Amino acid sequence: MSTTDLLHLAGSSWVIPGPTNIGAVERDGGVYLIDSGNDKDAGRKINRLLNEKGWKLSGIINTHSNADHIGGNDYLQRMTNCRIFATQTEKAFIESPQLEGAFLWGGYTPNEMKNKFFEAKPSRVTDLIRADTEILPGLCAISLPGHYFEMIGVITDDRVAYLGDAMFGATVLEKHPIPYIYDVVRYRETIELIKSLDADYFVISHGEIERDIQSLTALNLQRAADIEGYIMEALGGSGGSHDSGMSLPTQSRSFEEILQFVCNRMAVKLDVAQFALAGNTIRSFLSYLSNCGKIGYQFTDNRMYWTINSVTRYS
Ligand SMILES: [Zn+2]
Repeated sequence: MSTTDLLHLAGSSWVIPGPTNIGAVERDGGVYLIDSGNDKDAGRKINRLLNEKGWKLSGIINTHSNADHIGGNDYLQRMTNCRIFATQTEKAFIESPQLEGAFLWGGYTPNEMKNKFFEAKPSRVTDLIRADTEILPGLCAISLPGHYFEMIGVITDDRVAYLGDAMFGATVLEKHPIPYIYDVVRYRETIELIKSLDADYFVISHGEIERDIQSLTALNLQRAADIEGYIMEALGGSGGSHDSGMSLPTQSRSFEEILQFVCNRMAVKLDVAQFALAGNTIRSFLSYLSNCGKIGYQFTDNRMYWTINSVTRYS
């Protein structure tokens, strides 16, 4: 990584492009990062880059607590004693990262997930962010929940919007067809909000920097609709975006059967990590569909079976 790895967008707003794009905003004689990358190596490279540029690291603003966004926190905070900003729920995960693997797995984390992709080193949050407020002069946090509990984005007075994982780039969605979604309702509301954001640059953490965000919002909304459609199809229902129009008998299926069906349709190959991530997302969709009355469940022989509610099917 050299200074050429720093991309200037506008005014005092920059990006360090990478597997996780990192924002950098000059303020008050220092620089504030937006997220810190995957791990200690990312932290080390960022530190070197800031030194080359003669920038003093004042703080890291974490959009959310996933390991690929907070992985450099520990190294950078130890080296520079910088501040770390996060919202309340994300703070809990940043300071106690074992929560991440346990939450995604839904129980004690298996060894296969005890790694830097699921468990960053803990770091100390010094500043609590209240969403939709000005964090620093000319630098506002906007609430972008959905992908994760209390994710935020940052908009600068240079008209640059850093959007975290509110959406994913087209090539990323091709490689990872099931994006991680925690709260389906909020996820869609957040994308609707982004549609109306007035900015010149949109920086998503995984993907290209966009000048016009509209086609990407449509793609991400479509992907959520696809997942919902495949779940309904797994249960023999209609209403999905890939509905063949054929009337299939309704089926009762267990969570694992639904997960298998959706993954097969979306060409996703499961391993332990993908089982946790895709499984968590499918469970979130099942909660959403159940909460809005489209599907229900029953327990038979100590097994939970999901079915389409007849009102939904025949209305
Ligand atoms: Zn991410």
